[in-house]
Amino acid sequence: MGRCVARELVEWSGVDAERLVDLLVERALAEMGNYYYYTLLRMHLVGVEGDALRRVVEDAREEDRNHFEALVPRIYELGGRLPATFAGELGGLGDLRNLPAEADVPQILPILLKAAEESVRAYTQLCSVTSGKDNRTYNLVLAILHEEIAHQVWLLEFLGRGATEPSPRTRNISPFVAPYLRAPRPVSLEPAACTA
Ligand code: ZN
Repeated sequence: MGRCVARELVEWSGVDAERLVDLLVERALAEMGNYYYYTLLRMHLVGVEGDALRRVVEDAREEDRNHFEALVPRIYELGGRLPATFAGELGGLGDLRNLPAEADVPQILPILLKAAEESVRAYTQLCSVTSGKDNRTYNLVLAILHEEIAHQVWLLEFLGRGATEPSPRTRNISPFVAPYLRAPRPVSLEPAACTA
């Protein structure tokens, strides 16, 4: 691991930077895994109920991709790296791979709910690891947490409402994470900032 000013600052504030980077990398891979499985799922949801759930899946899918995009610059800023190869087995939605091709909404919904719960738990943990210490990471993971909680709410609403009425939700994609997607290129992505 090279020398990084951002990393030194984080360590100085009392955060275990290596553990923090590990957690952030784990989340980035989980987000990408979920994005992948949401993409597959979107193609398999049919019928009236499937259509209704697909609208939820499409929004969650876009936001999870944004979460991945927002996490990566911070990982590199802290001197971390993404693995060179993507295993594709991470993230709570990985359980979807065990489903039969003709899986229906009642089979799929518990997996989506479990994955949403796992994400909320992971970002809550990241918030408590960084709270009052690493404000930059804290603000980012809190923004993502808000959106993960929204995913959970959408699914619970769907569970309560079923496909009977259209969702009352009119929401922009990534209202909390959007500012992090417009952020300038982080310093440490420049070649010389984190030396090996
Ligand atoms: Zn996400």
